[in-house]
Amino acid sequence: METLAHAQAVGVLEVAIAFLSHMIESFKHLEELAAERDLADVFLETDEQEHGIPADQILMALRKRREVMRDCVERGKQGGVSMGKLVGNEAKLLSEAFRSGRTFLDPLTVKAELYALAVMGENSRMGVIVAAPTAGAGGVVPGMLLALEEERGVDPEKTVRALVVAGGIGSIIALSANISGAAGGCQNEVGVASSMGAAAVAYMMGGSTRQSIHAAALALKNTLGLVCDPVGGLVEVPCVKRNALFAVHGLTAAQLALAGVESVIPMDEVVEAMVRIGRALPRGLKETAEGGLATTATGCAIGSRLKEEANQRRDERAAERERIAQERKIGVGS
Ligand code: SF4
Repeated sequence: METLAHAQAVGVLEVAIAFLSHMIESFKHLEELAAERDLADVFLETDEQEHGIPADQILMALRKRREVMRDCVERGKQGGVSMGKLVGNEAKLLSEAFRSGRTFLDPLTVKAELYALAVMGENSRMGVIVAAPTAGAGGVVPGMLLALEEERGVDPEKTVRALVVAGGIGSIIALSANISGAAGGCQNEVGVASSMGAAAVAYMMGGSTRQSIHAAALALKNTLGLVCDPVGGLVEVPCVKRNALFAVHGLTAAQLALAGVESVIPMDEVVEAMVRIGRALPRGLKETAEGGLATTATGCAIGSRLKEEANQRRDERAAERERIAQERKIGVGS
């Protein structure tokens, strides 16, 4: 099921580039290294030292990714049906409600939801997206960052540097955790995305390194136990809407951290807890589509329908191959 669930992400670019640095071995270490420094600079420097990639090259690559995210949001707002026909028009609906004044939340929150839905709609139609950290969780970070950039008038270059922060935070998590729903449930995907985005938003809003790390911890610890139960094995239900909800979750975590609220459990220990919980989760709740929402009455009915359609397509392809082979035989004989 892992293959099925992630196969939808065609043309995926990754946000982390080469940040799998072993020079920053923990969040405690990061805080010591970067207490009084610009967090993006610290990640760029360690990356250059460890991987030999100059900072300007990384920033250029991330400018490109920001553009891809923006394009993806614009396309996603137009709507369209997903591969499994389960989702696709959520962004369009929210966009229309927003434009016609039918939303009641503040614009930053609505746009964070909207942009996350738009990206995930594109993902569900095999469009080009930026994995952050995975395709299935690819709406959370752009939802938060692009909405904030627009609504608070943030310099786009600051957004690019915030992507460095998001990638760096994700990479430290990845040193001890496998970032996939198959390994540890959705906490390892959407939870991690929310955590990366929260740290990046705290950074964009002028927060300290300590505040970014606490934003990451507040976001991640409140996703612990989140299971991966994609209906029919497709990254559609609950994934698309989950991205929107957890983009707002990440913004909330950043807001708390910027106000001085801290996580009692340090970020390194939150990650350890996530790994332990992921191991303890039953197989049926780790991207197998054999538990949770995937095995509700509706989930099962959709799963059966998808299987029937897949079998029908397979039979049609086999019949077509057979027809072509027969035609060739006749052609050779005549
Ligand atoms: S439920 Fe979460 S982890 Fe599982 S496929 Fe969907 S987004 Fe990925």
